[in-house]
Amino acid sequence: MHFPLPAPVAFALSRLEACGHQAYVVGGCVRDVVLGKQPHEYDLCTSARPEEVHLCFAGERVLDTGLKHGTVTLIAGGMPLEITTFRSDGTYSDGRRPDSVRFSTSIEEDLKRRDFTANAMAYSPVHGLVDPYDGVGACRDRRLIAVGDPMERFGEDALRILRALRFSAALGFEIDPITARAMQALAPTMDKLSRERVARELNLTLLGEYAPQALRLSPHILFAVLPQLAPMLHTPQRTRMHRWDLWEHTLQTIGFTPRELPLRWAALLHDSGKASTASYDADGTTHFRGHPLISARIADECLSGLKQSRQLQEAVHTLVRHHDDRVGPDNLQKWLSRLGLPMMRNLLLLQHADLSAHAPQVAAQADRSLALIQQAEELVASGACLSIGDLKVDGRALIALGVPEGPAVGDTLRWLLDQVLSGRAENQADQLLALARERIGL
Ligand code: ATP
Ligand code: MG
Repeated sequence: MHFPLPAPVAFALSRLEACGHQAYVVGGCVRDVVLGKQPHEYDLCTSARPEEVHLCFAGERVLDTGLKHGTVTLIAGGMPLEITTFRSDGTYSDGRRPDSVRFSTSIEEDLKRRDFTANAMAYSPVHGLVDPYDGVGACRDRRLIAVGDPMERFGEDALRILRALRFSAALGFEIDPITARAMQALAPTMDKLSRERVARELNLTLLGEYAPQALRLSPHILFAVLPQLAPMLHTPQRTRMHRWDLWEHTLQTIGFTPRELPLRWAALLHDSGKASTASYDADGTTHFRGHPLISARIADECLSGLKQSRQLQEAVHTLVRHHDDRVGPDNLQKWLSRLGLPMMRNLLLLQHADLSAHAPQVAAQADRSLALIQQAEELVASGACLSIGDLKVDGRALIALGVPEGPAVGDTLRWLLDQVLSGRAENQADQLLALARERIGL
């Protein structure tokens, strides 16, 4: 097998071997090379103890980044490389962290503690590929299979359940049935996990190229950590506007959004309030009146519960809250003034995705949202009036006109801005002053 290694990685491996230790690249980077993908990082493992790694790289920059897990970080050629001593994890009494970490001298022992067979391969230019669980076969078949007994492995560390969902979303792997059954059985034990670790895996899941497929196959794993979303499954949408039920519509919407965190979360959550707002006409037609507000509340609850950043919470709230509001060429400037260009772009991308996931006659209109993004960009580039500061009159001019100093000045400026944004006035000093004069009865 041809296994290209960046020069700093090859250097680190050969230096460790020269010092009399075994050294391999391991985990995600081996999997990615087997899949024909460019790894985004290289993790190394070695028979050397951390202090021996230090000795071996005397004169180089070596940081003690995770000493109690046996990890040091070598900065080689500007590239940070994590080097971890072979381990065999001890028992897990809390389902989260091993009670003890035992160093080992065998690569096979180290691979045994890893989560999935595709992640349990190691490679070294000296020793070749070490693949005791047929990770190559798993990559070929695009299958995620737990190393060893899945019930035992998920029992040791419940995060592996979410990691399975994450890898299936990132790699497009199907989860092996026995592994999937164990995930399902032990899903309730994820309640012990720290919210930050859950959030990290969910973020990576949503950013995955195959996120809709992964969530379609394992919805209950998501619902085990976000129970607020469970009612979305099997909620019908009997209207001419929709072709899918609520959950399938949500998955399709995710698939149509760019892989950016606020958009992916907004797509997941935009219709989460529908299940509780559904009402039915005599003929069965469904309505979801007021659902964006309820969805925005559910979004707040989910994201703050996961301790996501305030910035993400606010962005998703705004997008969900306004996803159903009408934006058109006539009110675009007003929306831009209210939300700013970056948020406006995201709102229109969400609307594009949402519409694309409707019935064909609605989906056919979706490209209008993309055209509006271009218009919004042109408006900003042309220096269109978007805020009070952009008005061609200021407070001083209004006072000179006879507006009493104090809150009336701000009120009048806001009113003038509204006139401009809604197209009732041009942003020209004489027009604005005339309007202001009329308004205050001069
Ligand atoms: P990515 O490409 O997303 O970084 P990765 O496979 O490198 O994927 P990491 O989370 O960086 O995933 O973990 C590196 C390796 O460590 C994994 O490939 C796996 O072998 C092992 N690993 C990480 N977390 C666990 C865990 N909770 N249980 C068992 N093995 C794990
Ligand atoms: Mg990694």
